[in-house]
Amino acid sequence: IESRLPNVGTTIFTVMSRLAQECGAINLSQGFPDFNAEDVLFERVAHWMRSGHNQYAPMGGVAPLREAIARKVSGLYGTDFDPETEITVTAGATQALFTAVAALVHPGDEVIVFEPVYDSYAPAIELQGGRVVRMQLAAPEYRPDWDAVAAVITPRTRMIMINSPHNPTATVWSSEDMARLAALTRGTGIVIVSDEVYEHIVFDGLRHESCAQYPELAARSVVVSSFGKTYHITGWKVGYVVAPRELMAEFRKVHQFNVFTVNTPVQLALADYMGDASRHERLAAFYQGKRDYFRDALAGSRFELLPSSGTYFQLARYGAISGEADSTFVQRLTRDTGVAAIPVSAFFADGRDERVIRFCFAKNEATLAAACEKLRRV
Ligand code: PMP
Ligand code: GLN
Repeated sequence: IESRLPNVGTTIFTVMSRLAQECGAINLSQGFPDFNAEDVLFERVAHWMRSGHNQYAPMGGVAPLREAIARKVSGLYGTDFDPETEITVTAGATQALFTAVAALVHPGDEVIVFEPVYDSYAPAIELQGGRVVRMQLAAPEYRPDWDAVAAVITPRTRMIMINSPHNPTATVWSSEDMARLAALTRGTGIVIVSDEVYEHIVFDGLRHESCAQYPELAARSVVVSSFGKTYHITGWKVGYVVAPRELMAEFRKVHQFNVFTVNTPVQLALADYMGDASRHERLAAFYQGKRDYFRDALAGSRFELLPSSGTYFQLARYGAISGEADSTFVQRLTRDTGVAAIPVSAFFADGRDERVIRFCFAKNEATLAAACEKLRRV
């Protein structure tokens, strides 16, 4: 078979979670909580199932959920999106990102991404015949170099894919970054795909900068979020996209043929659950507590912790422990120490290895305590 993705193997998240399971290791690799969501959410799903809401939802998503999303986005970011034409519920952020790229990128178009980059972006672009243009975020600050971005923009630049709070670096873009992005794309036909799945997980009093809060950016952005991160339900695979009408019309042309629509009772339950805004408002403090706990518990270890300003990830340098490649080191850490992590080289196309690994701290305190106890002995 002539592969459409000759350089793509199995995603690192599958590889490391499988290894963690095989070794009986504590899994701080793939990002997901080890605690449950609230019962009331499950009760709402059961309610909608029992009351007969088990057939196809409208293509864009059920109306109450689209309306709840519109209210949230308007309340947080001050921009009104029309639930009918500008909001679509998706099968997680992954499908949203893939669909946005499929709908908007033509063969030969250039798409700018920032490395280390979430692993689904480049394959999505390449499958459309797009060219991936990689800008570097350099450790330990991982800030974008906007002059360098300006220098790679050409008439073929079709899209810029951004992600703040950023996986895997746990950095958060500033209003200055948003201003530079707006200036760079002003007067161009460039579309921004803004992956904001960690929008509610921002620490130390920082504020999430959404493309939806800057009218100029909102007018040319596809903003993606995920209920998986916000409500501790990554396995439900439900997310959403907000975008201006013309972009959303193109998005839906593809969406209708790659999933058509998303699980009906779950959408209705999420609409009910979103009614209480304190649920997402509490998330930052909740995860900041876990971040602090994890960092404190690793203070006596030989890992050098990088800053974590958002997401539920913590980067760590391990140079004081080993000179191994990061992919070798995490395998050994999983097998010998009993803690699984993600090698950050997996987020670089050329496999660049800066000897940094990623831990997920979306775990119960007992899990974090047990993991840190092992990690302190390395
Ligand atoms: N983008 C980023 C940056 C992510 O971290 C994730 C999930 N880990 C996704 C997209 C995918 O989200 P979902 O599970 O909703 O598909
Ligand atoms: N986004 C999650 C992470 O970064 C993994 C999602 C997946 O496994 N595809 O760990």
